[in-house]
Amino acid sequence: MDITAESIPGSVLALLERLWSHGQAAYVVGGSLRDVLLGREPADWDLATDALPDRVLAIFPGSVYENRFGTVAVREGDDEHEITTFRTDHDYADFRRPHRVEFGDRLEDDLARRDFTVNALAWGARATERPRAALVDPFSGQQDLERRLLRAVGDPSKRFEEDALRMVRAVRLAAALDFEIEPATLAAIREHAPLVRHLSGERIAAELQKLLAADQPSIGFRLAAETGMLEVISSDLAAQRGVAQNKIDGEDLWDHTLRSVDAAPASRPVVRLAALLHDIGKPATLEDGPFRGHEVVGAEIAAALLERLRMPKASTDRVVHLVRQHMFTYDPDWGDAGIRRFIKRVGRASLDDLFALRAADSVGSGLPADAGRLDELRRRVHDQLAAAAVLDRSGLAIDGTDLMAELGVPQGPTLGRILDRLLERVIADPALNDRASLMLIAEAMLADEGDR
Ligand code: ATP
Ligand code: MG
Repeated sequence: MDITAESIPGSVLALLERLWSHGQAAYVVGGSLRDVLLGREPADWDLATDALPDRVLAIFPGSVYENRFGTVAVREGDDEHEITTFRTDHDYADFRRPHRVEFGDRLEDDLARRDFTVNALAWGARATERPRAALVDPFSGQQDLERRLLRAVGDPSKRFEEDALRMVRAVRLAAALDFEIEPATLAAIREHAPLVRHLSGERIAAELQKLLAADQPSIGFRLAAETGMLEVISSDLAAQRGVAQNKIDGEDLWDHTLRSVDAAPASRPVVRLAALLHDIGKPATLEDGPFRGHEVVGAEIAAALLERLRMPKASTDRVVHLVRQHMFTYDPDWGDAGIRRFIKRVGRASLDDLFALRAADSVGSGLPADAGRLDELRRRVHDQLAAAAVLDRSGLAIDGTDLMAELGVPQGPTLGRILDRLLERVIADPALNDRASLMLIAEAMLADEGDR
């Protein structure tokens, strides 16, 4: 496949045209071309130009420049595109971002600062050559695309010393694209893996999230483990390697984790992350019998890890809760009250996630997705939800105000305790949920509390 004007969306082509008509060189660059050549949908379209940021701002009224790396954001209807001035990067400190960038007018210099050969492609032209827009590929990225290889641009060791994130990007891209890492590049990752400790949690997390969205995240996580990067990101996950698990012959706990991650739906990032972390507490509980309490220890380790990675609080809470709850066992002897207690414990909002996690966990153990009568539990939970069963305080026929007004219960812990006990009773027997019955029961409870 070749790149032509037809390969590029009209809105992006319009930006190129505009830069050309103002006498500037303009190119589509980087990952989007790689994706087009692979027949994949690009995540974003980045442009590069010889125009300086101020000039780009003038050519595109309403665009914004809020960094010092030459990247101007241009809005086009619903789309936002980034136009970056050709640049070279200098003075890498702390194995992170460049401290100084230098703007230039040579496309080749701009491509040379990019991470991998398949990301160092450009399509476009100088203003004067615009009818002859073409693919520019100084590092044989197209050849590596055909061989499905990730190869560092230039000396891999130097490139990873400059910016350690490139190593995390390598394993993420290997999984997302189903590519191999070229041997010298892989050897340099092995050598420099410890530098990953200098990266901020946010930057690692952004790559991990993209890795978790790949068809088979296991490809990237295996590479991370083999190169030593995983040890730096989470020593608890790295410790899963070699821990025996009598689930699938010849496979250890780490293999189980990776199978579970792959089996979780790619469209559900919270479930994928929970699958990655569900057994993170097992290495730490090896001594306490067969992993006893690993879901409790695991929830704590997961919370600390996700905080270190600066994951948003809302998804952290959901993932930690799933890790904590993943060990449930359904017994077909449960009555409907048992099903309602299960719903209350898990929380209505987490049920779907927990079922998806269990299905992935089962597949990861070499079992069918509905092992342990998961489908039956799902159906029974669904029936209870459809019957509008009372599952939390808000469904009770009386509330705290009623108890205060009619029984003189003072505001405070007693009030909350009585409401909780009423809820337990109604979950066990929904027929009790009317005002009169609940008042009677509450009265008895009050007398009982008074006796204690
Ligand atoms: P995707 O958009 O699919 O996640 P991508 O490779 O396009 O992958 P972006 O973050 O969009 O990733 O970066 C765009 C381009 O910028 C890359 O293709 C690459 O050329 C360059 N790039 C990004 N990060 C780095 C880095 N840390 N070092 C060198 N070049 C980089
Ligand atoms: Mg991109």
